Amino acid sequence: MKDDKLDQLARIWGMSVELMLKTYQSDSLVPGICMNEGCDFATEVEPDTRASWCEECRNRTVTSALVLAGRI
Ligand SMILES: [Zn+2]
Repeated sequence: MKDDKLDQLARIWGMSVELMLKTYQSDSLVPGICMNEGCDFATEVEPDTRASWCEECRNRTVTSALVLAGRI
């Protein structure tokens, strides 16, 4: 599930998972995606985000790419 979401987020961002993680590894804002199945809401979040607001689900379900990848 986590890997699926990471892949999905990279597709939305238009880059490979590897490039996305490399590009954003030391940025103050990084890509994040909603963890709910069937929701592909993506936005920029702080690197350590685990429960940010999803505008689609109206819930705190957005997790950052770095957290998804286990980099944080
Ligand atoms: Zn959502």
